[in-house]
Amino acid sequence: MKIHEYQGKELFRNAGVPVPDGYPAFSVDEALDAFQKLDADRVVVKAQIHAGGRGKGGGVKIANGIEEVEQHANEILGMNLVTHQTGPEGQKVQRLLIETASDIERELYAGIVLDRSCGKFVFMVSTEGGVEIEKVAAETPEKIVKEWITPNGDLKTHQARTLALALELTGTQVKNAVKTFLSLWKVFKLYDCSLMEINPLVVTKSDEVIALDSKINFDDNALFRHKDIQEMRDLAEEEPLEVEADSYNLNYIKLDGDVGCMVNGAGLAMGTMDIIKLHGGEPANFLDVGGIANAETVAHGFKIILSDPNVKSILINIFGGIVRCDRVAQGVIDALSQIEVIIPIVIRLEGTNAKAASELLQDSEHDFIVAGSLAHAAQLVVQAAKQEN
Ligand code: ADP
Ligand code: MG
Repeated sequence: MKIHEYQGKELFRNAGVPVPDGYPAFSVDEALDAFQKLDADRVVVKAQIHAGGRGKGGGVKIANGIEEVEQHANEILGMNLVTHQTGPEGQKVQRLLIETASDIERELYAGIVLDRSCGKFVFMVSTEGGVEIEKVAAETPEKIVKEWITPNGDLKTHQARTLALALELTGTQVKNAVKTFLSLWKVFKLYDCSLMEINPLVVTKSDEVIALDSKINFDDNALFRHKDIQEMRDLAEEEPLEVEADSYNLNYIKLDGDVGCMVNGAGLAMGTMDIIKLHGGEPANFLDVGGIANAETVAHGFKIILSDPNVKSILINIFGGIVRCDRVAQGVIDALSQIEVIIPIVIRLEGTNAKAASELLQDSEHDFIVAGSLAHAAQLVVQAAKQEN
């Protein structure tokens, strides 16, 4: 799960990470109120969406005085903000953050992620803040300095110091950076975060080291112990089909291709996507219908897959281990009496009662393409999608 910048900064503030004073605003009036409360000469009007690159896209503007706050709030609220992370369709801005403008001396980068290659957390910093860190990592990786933290351990003061010195900080800046780093780690650990990025982390003209941006992702499997974080969820920022699938307990991720996939089991779903690609196709989604592929779950699955207008054919790939293939086949047939599907459906069923299942499908009034092997199924479904295009 992700949260907005202003929500992340609230967590930072409570943990002692310095952030600019600021208030969220859901309307232009609230933006003006926020400006009055801040009592600052210069503020920043910032679009709140779950994507970075807002500055470049026109979603972050400095305002000198109340007239400019009104002007920028009017422009940004409701705008369709397009950044390199939103994709070309952009994201509608429904919330703002109005915060005091900082006197920036330097823009740095700080981030914490899980390093799967060694099973530890890694705290990274770079002098190259404010720009796309992916670019720094690709072109000048030596400019990213890292310290590792064992899962049950903590960032040590000497590690925080090493990071501060790598940023070429001096005197009180080092002291302030160490405090900021230790507090960031405290937030990361306390809330079971999976990723945290502060880009930029800035050094102000008065030597403070403050978080000017915040991006936080949480480990969904640990959310049950953080009710306060769950309350911060903003469904308007999530893919509507994924939210709907979640309400049916289906595991669905939307992708960009045109071959819809309905599969039981996450591993098989990954394998299915791979084999579609191997045969020259592009999967439109990942969909794991789970262990019980009955008429209801299959019907929900169809509904979700078909809501994506790019889908040109569907591959149903079921392995009957605990679930019997004939039951699944009956589920598919029953689902099709509830929901109309006009694009080709290729089915591959393997495992318990597979033969009975394929007879059921052949005898039904629907026009299924029943495939013998997985490779054959992939070939047929990719071909079908190409013909529909
Ligand atoms: P994004 O990463 O989505 O573009 P940021 O919050 O990083 O958004 O803001 C972009 C840039 O705007 C920052 O790199 C910084 O230069 C400037 N900025 C953001 N917030 C402030 C602030 N409170 N005071 C001064 N400048 C700011
Ligand atoms: Mg940023």
